[in-house]
Amino acid sequence: MLDVVSPVRWTLWKQRRSLIVYCLLIEAAAVTATVTTAVMVPSRPHDAVIFASLAGMGVLQAELGRQVERVRRRVNGTPHINLTSVWTFAGVLLLPPALVAVLAALLYVHLAVRSWYRLRRVPAFRSVFNCCLAIITCFAAEALLARAGVDGMYGALDAGWTGVGVIPLAAATYFLVGALIAVPGLSAKTRSFKELFGGWADNLLEIATLCLGMLTALALATLPALVLVVIPPLLLLHRGVLVKQLEVAANTDEKTGLFNTAGWHSLAARELAKAKRKAKAPFGVLMIDIDYFKRINDEHGHLAGDVVLKAIAATIRSEVRDYDCVGRFGGEEFVVLLPETGEADVVGIAERIRKAIARLEVEAMDEGRTTVIKGLSASIGVATYPEAGGAVERLLQAADKALYSAKRAGRNRVVSIMNAG
Ligand code: GH3
Ligand code: MG
Ligand code: MG
Repeated sequence: MLDVVSPVRWTLWKQRRSLIVYCLLIEAAAVTATVTTAVMVPSRPHDAVIFASLAGMGVLQAELGRQVERVRRRVNGTPHINLTSVWTFAGVLLLPPALVAVLAALLYVHLAVRSWYRLRRVPAFRSVFNCCLAIITCFAAEALLARAGVDGMYGALDAGWTGVGVIPLAAATYFLVGALIAVPGLSAKTRSFKELFGGWADNLLEIATLCLGMLTALALATLPALVLVVIPPLLLLHRGVLVKQLEVAANTDEKTGLFNTAGWHSLAARELAKAKRKAKAPFGVLMIDIDYFKRINDEHGHLAGDVVLKAIAATIRSEVRDYDCVGRFGGEEFVVLLPETGEADVVGIAERIRKAIARLEVEAMDEGRTTVIKGLSASIGVATYPEAGGAVERLLQAADKALYSAKRAGRNRVVSIMNAG
């Protein structure tokens, strides 16, 4: 707590310079826009009632969703699911801009104090930054409405089809500006389009949230008491996110982030069915076992062993294509499925993985000191469909048999079932 109160100790200063500059810029822009519009845009008599309704419902929804949020965070480390847009976007459609900014700030402070703070320490600068991003996003949508000459939901109700068109356009602006201005704040490591802009499910969640925001505004502008009907679908949406994340967690190996046994098997079954449909398109299965791994644990400790396992997992992942399916079957044993790849190529890929593991140098802590662990090696058994069998279990057995041959022949090598003997 002290760290937040005393500016010299803010975690913000420990971030990379570009992030610090971007945070300060966004924060300055949010404050300037709020103060300027507070002076320029007059408020209306019923604004206070609308503001109180949106703030009250935002707090109510966050309180009712706390239980789900607690479970969700235990399953998945992602810092927060942002359903706040329901209220802030409804605010965009109903309130003068400065009040929307105050509404966003209020909801973010409530979340920070009530759930983020307790469940997982999100650095305070992140909360402030996210709140300012939300405020600028709101201003962007407000700007679109002003440009279209439609006074939010009240104006849209009088504007007929123009209103029907402009409100979703404001939502689209909110969606796009929100996604774009968040990008420079993301970790410098995130590069791929999917990492930057989220998957289809994340975006669908944001779209559904904005739709509920529109309905909230529509209710408040016409039959205000009916606005409470948005709460149940919103809670259900929140629960839906939990279900999706539980599904991912059930198929993921916690230590390495690769597929676990169950996840790998269900994907392998799907790939096999696909290969059969395509008139026996070939695919390969690699079974990778680290050589003398027990020695690493004995020499450097189990925690260092875990760091090595993670590094090996990342190496295997980086040596194969995005759609190849990499799993960890517990222990120090990894399995890779290579769709649409024939025997010659599969052996080549296995050889590439083996060499990459042999080149690995892993930094790990050993009794309080950093040591570099190298000289790793792996034995790899290779089996291919359809030659080695027509069922996933058969292929795994074949790859395991090849792996056993590789171990017997002296380790640090690739053996294909075709010549395993
Ligand atoms: P080889 O495969 O070459 O025959 O030798 P090995 O020493 O790798 O053989 P074995 O499969 O018998 O030993 C695997 C070791 O991996 C045993 C266990 O201590 C270690 N291990 C299994 N799971 C984990 C884990 O999650 N973390 C760590 N650090 N070690 C693990
Ligand atoms: Mg081993
Ligand atoms: Mg083993």
